[in-house]
Amino acid sequence: MELIDGKKISQEIKDECKAKAEELIKAGKTPCLAVILVGNDPASSIYVGNKKKACEYCNIKSLSYELPESTSEQELLDLIDKLNNDKEVNGILVQLPLPKHIDENKVIAKIDPSKDVDGFHVSNVGALCVGQEGFVSCTPAGIIQLLKRSNVDISGKRCVVIGRSNIVGKPMALLMLKENATVTICHSKTADLKAVASEADILIVAIGKPRFVGPEYVKDGAVVIDVGIHRDENNKMCGDVDFEKVKDKVSLITPVPGGVGPMTIAMLMNNVIEACERY
Ligand code: NAD
Repeated sequence: MELIDGKKISQEIKDECKAKAEELIKAGKTPCLAVILVGNDPASSIYVGNKKKACEYCNIKSLSYELPESTSEQELLDLIDKLNNDKEVNGILVQLPLPKHIDENKVIAKIDPSKDVDGFHVSNVGALCVGQEGFVSCTPAGIIQLLKRSNVDISGKRCVVIGRSNIVGKPMALLMLKENATVTICHSKTADLKAVASEADILIVAIGKPRFVGPEYVKDGAVVIDVGIHRDENNKMCGDVDFEKVKDKVSLITPVPGGVGPMTIAMLMNNVIEACERY
């Protein structure tokens, strides 16, 4: 078994972004990300803080809008409109989840697709579906980088994605299809999940249940990508895969922490640079 080192690979990507940002700045274009946070959810505040730190590292300017919980939907839509029209701003990120009185779909739809560096706008999701250029959701895009930079050959392989969320499972399956894998998507209603999962050469797990996937889901020698992030009863971090029980069966596996997690922000930086280059 070998580990896929997400920390190292994400650092490589951030360093590439930093070098590209320096070139863009020399050419008079400063890459800039606007981050909007509504309310004071502690986890969201940490994520936003980490995104700002990564921007600083990569020479990307970050604008921060920290709005009170009481912000109305219209006020948020008006701010997005302003940022859509601001020529200095290349990327707009609205930290999810939003307070209950704000319709997430309406907010995502308002973001100019050319500034939608999270890749959540239906235009970008549609572009991915039909193989056109657009922004791809950062976590699945990061997983493709983990596989490629670990020299995993994807073309022709059997890939099973467990989870069909709009942010991870669905775009993940489309990206693996684009890389010419034979893809199966599983979800909470899949019959005989163990039998389907254990056919995978590449098994990608994004279900949100701690240590759910044990050795009976995994083919000998498979590559296993664990998207889940949890804290167990002892406050220890773990994924959706029972790492200790499957590690001797696999050829490559992502640890939690230090696997998929660090890739998400690195790919966000990559998308901001791309937005600035395309502008
Ligand atoms: P989600 O809750 O939106 O989706 C979970 C999916 O898993 C659903 O499609 C559901 O059908 C499927 N599922 C649930 N129970 C199942 C079961 N018993 N058998 C088969 N399928 C089942 O979650 P998400 O947003 O896709 O996130 C998944 C996990 O990844 C979470 O632990 C989340 O914290 C983590 N995550 C990590 C990152 C990162 O940067 N590493 C980013 C996003 C999400």
